[in-house]
Amino acid sequence: MTTNHELFQRAQHLMPGGVNSPVRAFKSVGGEPFFTARADGAYLWDVEGKRYVDYVGSWGPMIVGHNHPHVRAAVERAVQNGLSYGTPCAAEVTMAETVTRLVPSMDMVRMVNSGTEATMAAIRLARGYTGRNKIVKFEGCYHGHGDAFLVKAGSGALTFGVPTSPGVPSGLADLTLTLPYNDLAAAEKLFAEAGDDIAGLIIEPVAGNMNCILPRDGYLQGLRDLCTKHGALLIFDEVMTGFRVALGGAQAHYGITPDLSTFGKIIGGGMPVGAYGGRREIMRLIAPSGPVYQAGTLSGNPVAMAAGLAMLELIQTPGFYAEIDRKTRVLTDGLAAIALEAGVSMTTNRVCGMFGLFFTSEKVETFAQATACDTALFNRFFQAMLERGVYLAPSAFEAGFVSSAHDDGVIAATFDAARESLRVAKN
Ligand code: PLP
Repeated sequence: MTTNHELFQRAQHLMPGGVNSPVRAFKSVGGEPFFTARADGAYLWDVEGKRYVDYVGSWGPMIVGHNHPHVRAAVERAVQNGLSYGTPCAAEVTMAETVTRLVPSMDMVRMVNSGTEATMAAIRLARGYTGRNKIVKFEGCYHGHGDAFLVKAGSGALTFGVPTSPGVPSGLADLTLTLPYNDLAAAEKLFAEAGDDIAGLIIEPVAGNMNCILPRDGYLQGLRDLCTKHGALLIFDEVMTGFRVALGGAQAHYGITPDLSTFGKIIGGGMPVGAYGGRREIMRLIAPSGPVYQAGTLSGNPVAMAAGLAMLELIQTPGFYAEIDRKTRVLTDGLAAIALEAGVSMTTNRVCGMFGLFFTSEKVETFAQATACDTALFNRFFQAMLERGVYLAPSAFEAGFVSSAHDDGVIAATFDAARESLRVAKN
């Protein structure tokens, strides 16, 4: 039998860090990753046959559980007709009709192959539309690995960005202004000083890449008003929240209309898909109807469209989101009660099928609070849970996800594992 360890040894010689995406290497939590052999419902099985309850869900897409028969059948049907055409196909039109119906702020949409592509194209479009160069992002928000987004705040909200990664030219990073999430006064100050130069403000409306942080009351509306006042585009990066926190995404949940939105994860049903879209007068600028260039050999791929459409059908089932919301509440309330019993300070955040656990006694609303949590305790808890067959995101700064396949039995088993894991981890 091939073991996880053997595979990781081989992989490390062949792929940077042994993986094709950094967080998979478990660097933050320590130890070695497991290699998944198959996935079904709420579970993953590794190559050694060990089963895990999965709260990562391929980092968000698997909202109906893994290997759902409806999605699988759609893919199998599509595959019969070939894998890629490079011409328009009917499924793309159905996808565009579905997405623009479910997300009313989008009159038009362009399909791409990842969330990163979607956000890169969205800021290019914002720049092309406004004729301005600067963009605003938030510390702790992740928008994929495009150069413009690999920037963190310097000292103070108004300082120009400093590249987070070698290889990002400082001249480009200078165009990315960084703000603290959930601080409207800081945003007002920045727009008062630089508003006329800002093409767009991009935000995860619920921040899922610094654990799970919800917007304060009125915060998103405040940003909407600032963008409108200064002629900047408000871009909601709903790659994670789209079709996750509500059928219409975070924009429906909070009742805010962005100018542009980006999607990924759930929209592809587990296939590599992203999308961006918005008002017609803006989207018309995209090539070939307009001058802002963006293209893709595999964009709108028929197999990927089939998977995404099947997924979008499933999530429109009446009561789907109410049930996921209920399960996530049961999970986070139960874990909070178990932590209390164990004498461990832990708070939780959640919105529908997305949640965060924080080893602190405070309600966490900011990046600074998230980074001040006890990450060493989280790492010990993560390892103890993994040993007991529960896979949480392998970093204290990632949101967790609940799917419709996480039934009450799965959640009860999670509680059993958590009781023991907290006892082990707190020492
Ligand atoms: N935007 C957000 C909010 C994300 O969470 C991610 C990925 O996790 C991305 C963009 C990038 O998407 P992808 O990994 O598909 O390129």
